Amino acid sequence: MKNVYLLGATGSIGKQVLDIIDNNPLDFHIVTLTANTDLDGMSALINKYHPKYVAMGQEEAANILRIRHPQTEIGHDTLGLIKAATLNPEDHEGLLVNALVGMCGLVPTIKAVEIGRSIALANKETLVIGGDLIMPLAKKHHVNIFPIDSEHSAIWQCLHDEDINSVKNLIITASGGAFRDLSRDQLESVTAEAALKHPNWSMGAKITIDCATMINKGFEVIEAHHLFGLPITKIKTILHKESYVHSLVEFIDGSIIAQMAEHDMRIPISYALFYPQRKLNSVPALSLSEIGKLSFAAIDLNRYPCLGYAYEALEKGGLYPCVLNAANEAAVQLFIEHKIAFLDIETIIRGQMDHVDNILNPTLEDLLKMDASVKEAVFITTLK
Ligand code: NAD
Ligand code: MG
Repeated sequence: MKNVYLLGATGSIGKQVLDIIDNNPLDFHIVTLTANTDLDGMSALINKYHPKYVAMGQEEAANILRIRHPQTEIGHDTLGLIKAATLNPEDHEGLLVNALVGMCGLVPTIKAVEIGRSIALANKETLVIGGDLIMPLAKKHHVNIFPIDSEHSAIWQCLHDEDINSVKNLIITASGGAFRDLSRDQLESVTAEAALKHPNWSMGAKITIDCATMINKGFEVIEAHHLFGLPITKIKTILHKESYVHSLVEFIDGSIIAQMAEHDMRIPISYALFYPQRKLNSVPALSLSEIGKLSFAAIDLNRYPCLGYAYEALEKGGLYPCVLNAANEAAVQLFIEHKIAFLDIETIIRGQMDHVDNILNPTLEDLLKMDASVKEAVFITTLK
C-alpha cells in the first residue's frame, strides 16, 4: 500500500486522483489533503479519508475547518502546502501528487524533492517556472517525477526503454481549444464563458483558458524540455483536433511511435500512480473503426502567438519562463473576472516579456520575487 500526499484534492485532477484511489482501496492510503477555499468539499474529504494533515489556501478557511474538524490538524498558506507535501519525511515509498494549479505548486514540489519523495506531477506551472532548479535537484536526490499531463504521459510511454539519443523529435499534439474554428477578428469579442467550453476535455478554469490561447501548449513544450532533457529544437507541436493521439516520438530511423487513448485524464493519472504497472480502469475503450479518420495540421503562430512566446521564453531562459507564466496567471484571472478582453491576455504577456531584466541562473528567491513583481505590474497597469 502506497501513502499518498495529495495537493489540490478538490480540483479537476484531484477529484480524478481520488476516484482512482476509491476504485483501488487496497493500493493507496491518503495521508494529507489540501484545497484552496472549498470548505464543504474538504469537509467531505476529511470525513471520508480521515487524513493526518490538511491544508487550505487561506487562513480564514482553515479556521472554519478547525471548528468543524477539531480532531484534524489543519494548516494554511504556503507553509501548510509544504507540510502537506513533506509530512513523514522518512516515508520514501510515499507519493506526492501535485494537482495544484499555478505557481503555488512550486515551493512544495521543491521541498518534497529535497526529502527524496517521488512526485506525480499535474501542476505544469511548477516545471515551467522552476524546471531548471527542480530537475537537477531531483537527480541529486534520486527522485522520480512522473508526468500526469496527457501529452507527457504519452511521450513517457512512447520512450519506454528507448535510447534518448535516437529521438529525432518529440511531437506534442494540440486540440486548438475552445476557439480553434474562429478567426483572429472573431476572437476580439469572445467571452470567458465561451472560452471555458473546451471541445474535448473537461478541466479546471485556468487550463481551459490556457488551451484557448494555446499558451497551454507552450507550457507543455517547456515541461517536455525539462522532463525529457531534450533541446527546444527537438520539441515540435501539431494541431490534432480529435485529441486521440496524445503525443508522438519521432526516431532517427524514420519511425514515429504514438500513444492513443480516449481523452480521459484517468488514463495518464492511473499510469503515473501505478507505474510501472498498468491497471484496469472503467474508461471506455477507444474504437478506431468508429473514429474512422484522424487529422493533423501545422499550427499557425500568427493565429496563436502565445505558443511562440513560450518557445521564445524557453530559448531566452533564466527568468523568461517565470515572467511568461506570471503574466499569464494574472491576465487569465483578470479575463475570468471580466476585467479584460480575451486578446488582452496575449498583449499583457507580450508587454511583460518585452521588459525583462534577465538573470540566467535564477535562484528560487529570484523566481518568487519576479513572479510577485510581474503579477503586481499586470494588476496595477491593467486596473488603473
Ligand atoms: P483546478 O482549478 O480544477 O484545481 C486546482 C486545485 O488547486 C484545487 O484543489 C484548488 O483548491 C487548488 N488551489 C488553487 N489555488 C491554490 C492556492 N493558492 N493554494 C492552495 N491550493 C490552491 O485545476 P485542474 O484543472 O485540476 O489543474 C491542476 C493542474 O493540472 C494545472 O497545473 C493544470 O494545468 C494541470 N492539468 C490539468 C488537466 C485537467 O484535465 N484538468 C490536464 C492536464 C494538466
Ligand atoms: Mg496536456
